[in-house]
Amino acid sequence: MHSTQNVTKKRILTGDRPTSPLHIGHLVGSLQNRVALQHSYETFVLLADVQAMTDNFADPQKVRQNVYEVMLDYLAVGLDPSAVTFMIQSQIPEIAELTVFFLNLVTVSHLRQNPTVKAEIAQKGFGQSVPAGFFVYPVSQAADITAFGAHLVPVGDDQLPMIEQTREIVRRFNSLYAPVLTEPKELLSAVPRLMGLDGEAKMSKSLGNAIFLGDSADKVAQKVMGMYTDPHHLRASDQGRVEGNPVFAYLDAFDPDKAALEAMKEHYRRGGLGDVKVKKHLLEVLEGVLAPIRARRAEYAQDRGAVQQLLRQGTARGRAEAAQTMQEARQAMGLDYFSEPADR
Ligand code: ATP
Ligand code: MG
Repeated sequence: MHSTQNVTKKRILTGDRPTSPLHIGHLVGSLQNRVALQHSYETFVLLADVQAMTDNFADPQKVRQNVYEVMLDYLAVGLDPSAVTFMIQSQIPEIAELTVFFLNLVTVSHLRQNPTVKAEIAQKGFGQSVPAGFFVYPVSQAADITAFGAHLVPVGDDQLPMIEQTREIVRRFNSLYAPVLTEPKELLSAVPRLMGLDGEAKMSKSLGNAIFLGDSADKVAQKVMGMYTDPHHLRASDQGRVEGNPVFAYLDAFDPDKAALEAMKEHYRRGGLGDVKVKKHLLEVLEGVLAPIRARRAEYAQDRGAVQQLLRQGTARGRAEAAQTMQEARQAMGLDYFSEPADR
């Protein structure tokens, strides 16, 4: 499985919060890049259940169920279990340990400025009652990334502040103690943020504006036919707006025939092209992408034992990596009391 030649490969770490199954925003934002790079990088994928708990602590059952759902999505999109290490965050306590030391290297006022966390606090309506665990999740994400010595992190653009925060922590740690941690870079895709069915800036699990990878063909059709478009494009003969129109945003992301798509956009702008026609075309394009994913997902769902086994093996392998990093981090800080020689 993991041949020794992997030692020379650079590493990818990325992951998802198991708060719901994954959607087509995840696919274009991050999953496609992971699949494309899984054989050229040593790839670690983290099911971030501890992070999911920071705003779902009252519903751990939901988090637990979605670990399995997200794992099915991974396998369905073509992440190859012979190349990828799949891990459950809560079963790797070294990540939590590293987080505790990292918390000393950031200030509360700096954390307050994180634009993604700020937006999420507003969106979730936390007001002044932000759980402390949620507030500091960018720090735990820095531990996720560095625990596995990742060089590259394929993410959507909402994660840029987290990667920057990680680099700052790594520099701080390395200069204060010893240079043992790796500074990561982000990898953005061509579609770093897919908008929602409702025209909201971000398709999101928690906003009810998503097409999920496991949605049935009927469900996808229902969602596409109900999509928000240009509100001023009432009749087919009206001139239409392409910009900010999610139907065209999805075609941009998924339609391989760019020349035909440009012609379609022109027609829509000019007037004479109805929403229903464009939506039917989008549906065909999406089905081309989703049908094989849906079929593979259903296949893996039949063998829960095998999926469980992949998670168990991956988590054990990941834990060994994180333990190694933690050992080096303790040594760097001089907190390795019981390592040889005993009289250090
Ligand atoms: P939650 O609402 O629970 O935070 P989420 O949809 O934001 O869910 P995450 O698990 O937080 O999903 O993010 C997983 C990865 O997918 C991240 O790299 C994130 O940037 C990316 N991602 C999420 N939504 C989109 C989107 N609409 N377009 C592109 N990338 C996305
Ligand atoms: Mg998110």
